Amino acid sequence: MLCLRLAESMLQGMFNALKVFHGAFCNALLPNHKPFLSGNYAEPARSSNAKGALRETDGTRFVTETNVIIGGGVAGATAALALSRAGRPVDLYERSSSASHKICGEFLSREVSANMRSLGVDPARLGARPINRVRLVHGNRSVDEPLPFPALALSRKVLDEALLEHARACGVNVIRGKAARRIEQLDDGSLEVSFGSDGSTKARTVFLATGKHDLRGVKRAATGPQRGYVALKMYYRFNKKKTEYLRWVTELIFLKECYLGLMLVEDDQVNFCFVISEARFAEAGGTWDGVLQQFSRESAYVAAYLAGAEPLLDRPIAISSIPYGFVHSPSDSDPLGLWRLGDQIAVIPSFTGDGMGIATCSAVLAAKMFLEGATSREFHHHFSGVVRRQMRVSKPLNGMLFRHTISQNAIIWLASLFPTSVRTIARLTRVPEKAMCGLD
Ligand SMILES: Cc1cc2nc3c(=O)[nH]c(=O)nc-3n(C[C@H](O)[C@H](O)[C@H](O)COP(=O)(O)OP(=O)(O)OC[C@H]3O[C@@H](n4cnc5c(N)ncnc54)[C@H](O)[C@@H]3O)c2cc1C
Repeated sequence: MLCLRLAESMLQGMFNALKVFHGAFCNALLPNHKPFLSGNYAEPARSSNAKGALRETDGTRFVTETNVIIGGGVAGATAALALSRAGRPVDLYERSSSASHKICGEFLSREVSANMRSLGVDPARLGARPINRVRLVHGNRSVDEPLPFPALALSRKVLDEALLEHARACGVNVIRGKAARRIEQLDDGSLEVSFGSDGSTKARTVFLATGKHDLRGVKRAATGPQRGYVALKMYYRFNKKKTEYLRWVTELIFLKECYLGLMLVEDDQVNFCFVISEARFAEAGGTWDGVLQQFSRESAYVAAYLAGAEPLLDRPIAISSIPYGFVHSPSDSDPLGLWRLGDQIAVIPSFTGDGMGIATCSAVLAAKMFLEGATSREFHHHFSGVVRRQMRVSKPLNGMLFRHTISQNAIIWLASLFPTSVRTIARLTRVPEKAMCGLD
């Protein structure tokens, strides 16, 4: 019975992936007859960006023409740069007061790097390491394949800080150390962002780019996505031999209800980041040391990596309740003038390494549509179509990676039998190239 269920879920996953592959193939043959930035949007434009009307100042509350961005990660900083480049005044609020680490595998796809460069921040100059291969490992089997595109690896601490610094240099008003608590639409149509005891601000347009953190009043819907995962991360220094073994490669190791990513970032630090089911994390005592001990018992390969590895952070960083597969569905109850970006609009499974692709694409696209007079609802509606294909492919695969050792084995087996499937999956789980508009 169990075997039947396993086979059924694996077949379902493969069937979905094939359906999308078929869809992508057909789309490639069809003429693209609906340019997404035509300016012809279905809904009547509310012209949230039109010049005019703003007056009121009362203590900490004020109404302003300035565009407000909440969150200074990849999505927020990219949107800030895109808007300021178009001459718009921007206030960006970032809760951290200085550069900090983030949970992320730190794989920058070609499109993300290109977008960063067009914004004026070159990851290679910041010390990013080049990546051109992917290695999948399960038990004593592995598959090592070239990526279909060149990629880079750079820590988010360095990247995000460089983006914010550059935004500041380009005239964005970057306000650090201020965390938004709540967003509310007022009767006059404006949005009030409350910073708790730090006051509040009002604006007609707010770009919400707080990543995994939901704000009261504008929480992401809880239905649909796959939840129940925890992610943890540490940087290590490996010896020369192991460091060289990782050069040029992004490595994904499949363990029980877990996948672990390893990659070299700047200064040859090893990004060691994994996603694990909450159940397995609890089984390991809910601690970093407990999990690593279990990994070492389960896999001699991981044990060999960890032997003699020097941790580079005082303690690991962690997040929980990642809503994999979440895509914001626009509805009439959405506050007008609130534009969701990055993880606030869609959360792709981590194994794809394309969260930053979604973050930059959503930010650039939102800025463009906003400047063209579209509404936030039109943007949300359009963007849910942009990410549909990559979600359809990555969600069932994500389920297979976590659910059973058998399905992990099957993935390695299929990848070694059909090596091009690795490249196909890598391509299909990326934001489609035609949507990945850079800045002019
Ligand atoms: C385990 C794991 C591995 C991943 N690996 C990769 C990878 O290799 N490659 C990839 O492209 N993507 C990866 N991702 C996804 C990627 O990290 C995210 O999709 C991306 O960071 C989203 O960018 P963002 O700007 O929306 O959010 P974030 O990068 O999270 O930025 C949000 C910002 O908002 C700030 N903020 C939060 N709340 C508030 C508040 N209330 N007020 C003010 N500021 C606030 C935060 O401090 C932060 O700076 C991974 C994700 C996980 C969980």
